[in-house]
Amino acid sequence: MTQTTKLRAADEAAQQIRLLLLDVDGVLTDGRLYYGDDGHEFKAFNVKDGLGIKLLQRGDIDVGIVTARQSSLLSRRCAELGIEIVIQGREDKLIAVRELLEETSLTESQVAFMGDDLPDLAAIQTVGLGMTVADANHVLVDQSLWQSQYPGGGGAVREAAEFILGAQGKLDQQVSTYSSSAKFDTRHNE
Ligand SMILES: [Mg+2]
Repeated sequence: MTQTTKLRAADEAAQQIRLLLLDVDGVLTDGRLYYGDDGHEFKAFNVKDGLGIKLLQRGDIDVGIVTARQSSLLSRRCAELGIEIVIQGREDKLIAVRELLEETSLTESQVAFMGDDLPDLAAIQTVGLGMTVADANHVLVDQSLWQSQYPGGGGAVREAAEFILGAQGKLDQQVSTYSSSAKFDTRHNE
């Protein structure tokens, strides 16, 4: 598939999406795992991604997490962002996605999955819109319909959110809620 064909296919697929599933390490983070002396683990999340997730939710597109690892700090970040679908500690992400489809009655074409490495491959190949980050493994890049120009933890999820909202014609409306005309006197709108 050429880049143009891929982008057109991604745009078409994005119009159907009701749920975006995200891998954590290497997608919502830069993939580094930080450990403190006391055994505690640290991760850095990007606030731009956080707002992208909020924009999707306000645009009636659900967001969920599917990760092989398990961490309480992830649970906390998800709670902050109002993410209710949080699947942790699942090595086989495809099975996790299939179970979720059954629970939610969504079809594969209504789901997008964003990952960065081989454990995400089967899920990306199965859902309607496979998405990946700028610094993804090359196999993922090849098999995804859409690739962010930003790396994991560097705004890739924000760009993915805007891509899906844009394809559904919802982006301008979400952005406009932040503009001064939405906040002040309606005279400014004339
Ligand atoms: Mg990963």
